[in-house]
Amino acid sequence: MTITQQEVQHVSLQKAQNYVNEVFEAVKKRNPNEKEFHQAVKEIFDSLVPVFAKHPHYMDNNVLERISEPERFLTFRVPWVDDEGKVRVNRGFRVQFNSNIGPYKGGLRFHPSVNASIIKFLGFEQIFKNSLTGQPIGGGKGGSDFDPKGKSDGEIMRFCQSFMTELCKYIGPDIDVPAGDIGVGAREIGYLFGQYKRIRGGFEAGVLTGKGLGYGGSLTRTEATGYGTVYFVEEMLKDKGLSFNGSTVIVSGSGNVSIYAIEKAAQLGAKVVACSDSDGYIYDAKGINIDTLKRIKEVERDRIQAYVKEHPDAIYHDNCSHIWSIPCDIALPCATQNEIDEKSAKMLVANGVKAIGEGANMPSTLEAIDVFLSHSILFGPAKAANAGGVAVSALEMAQNSMRMPWSFEEVDEKLYHIMKNIYQTSITAAKEYGHPGNLVVGANIAGFIKVADAMIAQGVI
Ligand code: GLU
Repeated sequence: MTITQQEVQHVSLQKAQNYVNEVFEAVKKRNPNEKEFHQAVKEIFDSLVPVFAKHPHYMDNNVLERISEPERFLTFRVPWVDDEGKVRVNRGFRVQFNSNIGPYKGGLRFHPSVNASIIKFLGFEQIFKNSLTGQPIGGGKGGSDFDPKGKSDGEIMRFCQSFMTELCKYIGPDIDVPAGDIGVGAREIGYLFGQYKRIRGGFEAGVLTGKGLGYGGSLTRTEATGYGTVYFVEEMLKDKGLSFNGSTVIVSGSGNVSIYAIEKAAQLGAKVVACSDSDGYIYDAKGINIDTLKRIKEVERDRIQAYVKEHPDAIYHDNCSHIWSIPCDIALPCATQNEIDEKSAKMLVANGVKAIGEGANMPSTLEAIDVFLSHSILFGPAKAANAGGVAVSALEMAQNSMRMPWSFEEVDEKLYHIMKNIYQTSITAAKEYGHPGNLVVGANIAGFIKVADAMIAQGVI
């Protein structure tokens, strides 16, 4: 009996699927109750089935078992003294997930929701995101369950100093390079850098990225994640003959990613009518005033509700997840994980959304992604669409090594090309592996192959 080409493929696809299922079960067993980590792993593993079917040597080398187990996972005590003189304790984390293509690289998140599952999901995503940027950076992530909300400047500084006193033993410009994430911006990076410098007794600029411009920071780093997300979505739209110009956009969140996504979308001719914080959202039919937003969030560190005092035509609603009920052409979730569930996704689709660009990390649930893909909505997954931040972090490391800064225009131009390239690489991989137009599959495959090849080349380590 002759076996047709199709049957051969089918057999190996089934074998690949079995391998993926087996390793996924093992990951769940080894990391019980870590639902966010399981979610991130499942999304990537499922995308890789056609890769294993075509290139079984990745299975033979057990690459999945290796890549889903962090090289190192650190937790540590962070004691600090509050303004009342009371001793407080938080937990610090750093996952050094993968260093096959460069030093561990990824942000620090300070938020009460931070736990092992959140850090591992973020660290795991970071491996593939960083690979996609084309820059020599491995995957890492860290943070603490410390809540910066309502803390004084002195408390933030003392916390950062204590956090770094422990973390500094494990990082370095060629080892592991943290940066910001939720709750960690320029102020916190400054305090962390100062403490690292003091303990080390030397100015190692490349140990952290997102630094202030006066001491080794890169121009465009602040804008990079938000701008990059818009550049990526622009590429998706262009392929369908669409553009930001004249479109209605909603952007969730109002932190660094959101602010600069709003700014760039508006520069490209879009009207951004809504943004949010964890308490609620604002709707401004005239388009969000970016100067007011920046002042409220970056200078006054106030809540988004303050916006309506200055713009009385705008409306404040106190349920942030209802932002997805606003009709729009393009939605950019830039707040946090799992902010778009199946119901919100269906609402966006029913209201005629054409494109989604994920500025936050894993903002759509697996069910929400299914809704978007099954309705052929253009969908830019986080690890491709928000890779601009870490890409410019890698450019900051390069400038630190050269001891020579680039201009805003130079970095912005490099960022633009990196985002364009990520889109091209992802769309090409999607087509090559039988899922044309599916950027979730394409980004996961393209990110994976580079790291997997490096792992195999470097032996069983
Ligand atoms: N936290 C950002 C991210 O999720 C940036 C990380 C970095 O610049 O290292 O990619």
